[in-house]
Amino acid sequence: MKRKDIIELTIEGMEFGGRSYAISEDRKVELKGGITGQRISARVKKARKNKAEASILGVIEKSPLETALTCPHFGDCGGCMYLSLPYEEQARLKEEMVYRLFEEAGISGFEAFPIQLSPSAYAYRNKMEYTFGDNEKNGPTMLGMHKKGRSFDIVTVDECMIVSEDFNRILSATLEYFKSLGIPHYNKKAHEGYLRFFIIRRGENTGELMVNLVTSSQLDPDLSGYVDMLLSLNLESNIVSILNTIDDNLADAVKCEELRVLHGRDHIFEEVLGLRFKISPFSFFQTNTKGAEKLYSIAREFAGESKGRTIFDLYSGTGTIGQILSKEATKVIGIELVGEAVDAANENTRLNGISNCTFIAGDVGEKVRELEEKPDIIVIDPPRMGATQKAIADIITFGARDIVYISCNPKTLIDNLLQLQEAGYKIEKVMPVDMFPHTPHCETVCLLTPK
Ligand code: SAH
Repeated sequence: MKRKDIIELTIEGMEFGGRSYAISEDRKVELKGGITGQRISARVKKARKNKAEASILGVIEKSPLETALTCPHFGDCGGCMYLSLPYEEQARLKEEMVYRLFEEAGISGFEAFPIQLSPSAYAYRNKMEYTFGDNEKNGPTMLGMHKKGRSFDIVTVDECMIVSEDFNRILSATLEYFKSLGIPHYNKKAHEGYLRFFIIRRGENTGELMVNLVTSSQLDPDLSGYVDMLLSLNLESNIVSILNTIDDNLADAVKCEELRVLHGRDHIFEEVLGLRFKISPFSFFQTNTKGAEKLYSIAREFAGESKGRTIFDLYSGTGTIGQILSKEATKVIGIELVGEAVDAANENTRLNGISNCTFIAGDVGEKVRELEEKPDIIVIDPPRMGATQKAIADIITFGARDIVYISCNPKTLIDNLLQLQEAGYKIEKVMPVDMFPHTPHCETVCLLTPK
C-alpha cells in the first residue's frame, strides 16, 4: 500500500466524531465517514508501517446494518452521515463510541447510564442554515447543504427528513421565486452576486417561524413580492419574522453587517419546560427543542436538590439551564461570552418573572475567579473545544458540592474530567444524550462530586 493507491476495504469499526477504520495488510486504515460492514473504495493518503489513512471514494456494497429509509439527498448531501442506519442502532453505536473514549482514558468507577434517545428521530431540528450556490460552473442556482466532502458545491435539500415539512416548503418556494426572477446567487470565489445564505428558525413549542435571507449589498431588489409570496404559503407554523441580513464579508460565513426587518419582528419565542425564551437571529439555542427539554431535565436531576443553593451556570447562552434550575435556588449566576446572548438571558428572566438569576458577559476563564459567591452547584456547558485548563482550575477552587458537566464533545469532556479527577473530584454518573440523530454528534451529561 502506498500513497495515492486506490484500494477496496471493508469497514471494521466506527470511532467517535464520524470516523471509521479498516484493516489492510495488517495495518489499521483510518477513514473519515463510513459505517461498520460497508465495502468501500478509497484513496490512500498516508501509509506508514503500522497505520494508514485513506479517504472514501464510494460505497461498493452497503453494510448489512443499513436498513433504514433514506431521503433522496442521502450520500450527496454532507448533512446526515448515519441516516441509513435504523435510529436505535445509531444510538447504540454512539453509546459504545462514547464509553470507549472513557475506557481508553482510564476513567472508570462511575454509574454508566444507557444513551437517551432524541424524542423525535426525524423533523427534530428547529434551525437550518442553508447556502445558495451551484453544483457546476455557471450551473443553475441551488439552495441547501454543502455536498459531501466539498466546500463549493451545493445540493438543494427540499426533501430533508430532519426538518419539518414547513422548512422544505419554504426552501423550495424561495429557490423557485428567485430563480424565476433571474436573481443571481453569490459566487464565493469571485465575490459576486446577491443570494448568500438562508436561515430558518422555528419555535417548536410556540409554532413561530423566522426566515432570514442573507444577501450581499450588490443588488437591492424590492423584496415585498418575496414577503407576500412567503406569507401566502400554506404552512403548519406561522411566519412571524422575515429578515434580510446584509453580509458583504469575504469569509464564507454569516456575518450580520445590517439587519433589515421585512415583516413582523426581529425575534421569535420558544418555550422550554414551561419557560419562555426570546430567540434573536444570531443567538445560540439548542437546535433540537424536545431533545433540549430532555437534556435540561437530566441536568436538573443530576444537580439534585436546589433549594437554598447558589448555582453557577457557566457558558450560559441565553440562560436556559440557569433559569430552569432557579425555581428553588437562592441565587443563580451565569457567565456567557456573547453579549447579545447575555442581554437575551437577562431579558428572558424578566419575561419569566424570575428575580434570582443574573447573567454576566465575559470569558469563563477570566470572569469566574472574580465571583465572590460560594456556589453549591456548578453547571458547565462549554462549546466543542471544552473548557480551558485555566477555567477548570478556577472552577476547582470553589470546591462546589456538585459539578454537572454538559458536553457536546466527549473528547474534550474527557480532558476536562481528567483534570477534575486529578484535583479530587469523583465522576459519579455519566449519561450520553442523543440530540442530533443521523449525525455523529452526541451530548454527554456527567455528575462530579468531591471525593
Ligand atoms: N448553556 C447554553 C449554551 C451552551 S453552548 C444552552 O444550553 O443553551 C456554549 C455557549 O458558550 C455559547 O453560548 C458560547 O457563546 C459560549 N462560550 C464560548 N466560549 C466561552 C467562554 N470562553 N466563556 C464564556 N462563554 C463562552
